[in-house]
Amino acid sequence: MSDIEHRGPAAPAPLEWEYAPAPEARDIVSFRERYGLYIGGELVDPRSGEWFTTTSPADESPLAEVAQASGEDVDLAVAAARAAYEDGWSSLRPAERAKYLFRIARILQERSRELAVAESLDGGKPIKESRDVDLPLAAAHFFYHAGWADKLEYAFPNRTPRPLGVAGQIIPWNFPLLMLAWKVAPALACGNTVVLKPAETTPLTALMFADVCRQAELPAGVVNIVTGDGSTGAELVRNEGLDKVAFTGSTEVGKAIQRELAGRGIPLTLELGGKAANIVFDDCALDQAVEGIVNGIYFNQGHVCCAGSRLLVQESIAEQLIGKLKRRLQTLRVGDPLDKNTDVGAINSRAQLEKIRELVASGEADGAEIYQPPCVLPERGYWFAPTVFTNVAQSSRIATEEIFGPVLSVLTFRTPDEAVEKANNTPYGLSAGVWTEKGSRILWMASRLRAGVVWANTFNRFDPASPFGGYKESGFGREGGRHGLEAYLRFGG
Ligand code: NDP
Repeated sequence: MSDIEHRGPAAPAPLEWEYAPAPEARDIVSFRERYGLYIGGELVDPRSGEWFTTTSPADESPLAEVAQASGEDVDLAVAAARAAYEDGWSSLRPAERAKYLFRIARILQERSRELAVAESLDGGKPIKESRDVDLPLAAAHFFYHAGWADKLEYAFPNRTPRPLGVAGQIIPWNFPLLMLAWKVAPALACGNTVVLKPAETTPLTALMFADVCRQAELPAGVVNIVTGDGSTGAELVRNEGLDKVAFTGSTEVGKAIQRELAGRGIPLTLELGGKAANIVFDDCALDQAVEGIVNGIYFNQGHVCCAGSRLLVQESIAEQLIGKLKRRLQTLRVGDPLDKNTDVGAINSRAQLEKIRELVASGEADGAEIYQPPCVLPERGYWFAPTVFTNVAQSSRIATEEIFGPVLSVLTFRTPDEAVEKANNTPYGLSAGVWTEKGSRILWMASRLRAGVVWANTFNRFDPASPFGGYKESGFGREGGRHGLEAYLRFGG
């Protein structure tokens, strides 16, 4: 174990929070040595003949070998999805489709402990988050969309909703199974078939989901999973057999996908990055706001597109709030993702850790004041201590770029107008938070903030019935709710 130096001005003395270890059982999940591609209802070896190893970011230990899909493999997956679409899935009675979705939801619930452990092992997130957030929400997405499958005519009266066909879906590494659910559940509910590409660093729960599909006796080819790196994603987007593309990830790759699809007339949804403002007014319940700020940025190590990474605090309470926040940071437990007491787990990959380090160094070079609580980080694996920057210039990189790590930048404001101006001063527009006791102020702010989601006196709340998506460089299209269904349907004829 190595000590991370306590940096920044002194905060109140650390509290004693000694907990006994509370490890979740590792042996509830047993990975195969090797996972092929899930095509046409079978795990098959890749035509590419290539494999890669997926590792645990908490200790860099290998977990399993996974196939690297080539263009030829992607072709086979798209062909399998097309065959399944035409051979019955698209014309299946909607109430029958719903039954499969209900089954999948139930199996996710039944296997939730196993899947939660797998998610934490492969991605590094704390078990209490994968257990209490990712898995319940993934199941909820399937339940919710199962309910819609036979009610699409009511959701869109007089518009004759029809499926689009084969959807190519690319997901990131921050919520692997949950993002799969966000993509697969609405697509299937609307009668489409899918080819899904999970992220290179977190393929395992998607491959276990293949087993869930088999358990649910989902017809072969309705869901296909092609693993690999970015080149597999690019092959998928290039494939001419697709009728729809849905992507969640970085703005840069989102733009590349948009360029690739230009002129092909394929519906596209993009859910990209964010740099959300979490805005705290002086009349709010301060301790509650501190919890919301912590949840907003340290949840899932800050690997959250809608993370509240910019704290805008009213000047009159800034000192008091920052004092409380620093004190709260000292109680966050960083370490083993499988320990039920852990609040902040491992950074997802070495590359992401380097990116966080680079941006934090730029913040220090720009003259912002850094605070990290005293904190012991494991020697192996990828770790970063919870960090707060104060005295941040609006133009600095830590105030404008997505860090995607446990790093908060604090800015201040005096008036609601100034708060709105600063909050909207970003190329992104995914989410925002407002903390105040006045309902009228919440409404006033919400109508001015250019963000797809505005949380009031809470943060990072998700519900399958609530549409989620961005403005500007955060992307377009919505996922969840009735709006989300629209992205997987054509109308009329
Ligand atoms: P990417 O956008 O590269 O990854 C998202 C998905 O796209 C992954 O499955 C990835 O595959 C795939 N992909 C990569 N390149 C291509 C391509 N040319 N065509 C099609 N698909 C592709 O994100 P990164 O993992 O590189 O993360 C970089 C930054 O992006 C982060 O630091 C963060 O700021 C942001 N990000 C935002 C997310 C969000 O939810 N909005 C989620 C993840 C990252 P593979 O993983 O195999 O390379």
